[in-house]
Amino acid sequence: MGAAVVNQNGSLCFRNITKKYGDLTVVDDINLDIKSGEFFSLLGPSGSGKTTTLMMLAGFATPDAGQILLNEKDISQLSPQQRNLGMVFQNYALFPHMTVLDNVMFPLKVRKYSAKECQERAQWAIDLVRLSKYSKRLPKELSGGQQQRVALARAVVFHPEVVLMDEPLGALDKNLRYQMQMEIKELQRKLNMTVVFVTHDQEEAMNMSDRIAIMNNGKVEQLGGPKEVYESPRNVFAAGFLGEAN
Ligand code: ADP
Repeated sequence: MGAAVVNQNGSLCFRNITKKYGDLTVVDDINLDIKSGEFFSLLGPSGSGKTTTLMMLAGFATPDAGQILLNEKDISQLSPQQRNLGMVFQNYALFPHMTVLDNVMFPLKVRKYSAKECQERAQWAIDLVRLSKYSKRLPKELSGGQQQRVALARAVVFHPEVVLMDEPLGALDKNLRYQMQMEIKELQRKLNMTVVFVTHDQEEAMNMSDRIAIMNNGKVEQLGGPKEVYESPRNVFAAGFLGEAN
């Protein structure tokens, strides 16, 4: 099928991005360079500014200062639809009254693909997450893991260059969580997608990421590969945060 496109783009840059809510600076002058095809995690405790960072990338929050570049073009002023990013969240946000197939076709219909292309591409994405047998079911007739796979299929169906994931596995139990981590990784490699992944779970970040940015109080405290941040925490906060779960 012609739909199996592998991405070549998807680099991201945050240049001096700041976001305030009233007097509170929730993201404080951060700079990030995320490479095309990279699995990049924002890791940190609750309230450290991870979701706000992701929301600015998605276009649901506007930075007070700075630039966000996708493939070296400033996207700060574009609407969420114009940014062409896939998204997966903890609560799936599947449409409960729609079948698996209709849920996955939804982003294609919004983008005005032809009926034939909607069908073909949705089928490709559903096959990719191994749910072909379930395409006529409603979300409530699926397990938690299956529902999350529908959300994944829906996020990748239009071949976004970048997929944003905010605690996507937070609602799953520990075993399923690990299995889904591996499935997401496999999908990311297969499609060569850039993934920006938000989690407060350091083990999850370590398992999945090429690089991790540890956030605290709206700042990036440390940035590096999993081994590097784990073995050489750069400051007291990073050491304390990484030590907590052990
Ligand atoms: P994290 O994802 O790391 O838990 P968030 O980005 O959700 O952190 O939140 C960072 C801080 O910004 C928190 O103190 C939170 O209460 C605050 N915040 C987030 N969104 C809003 C908002 N829409 N209005 C006011 N404060 C907000």
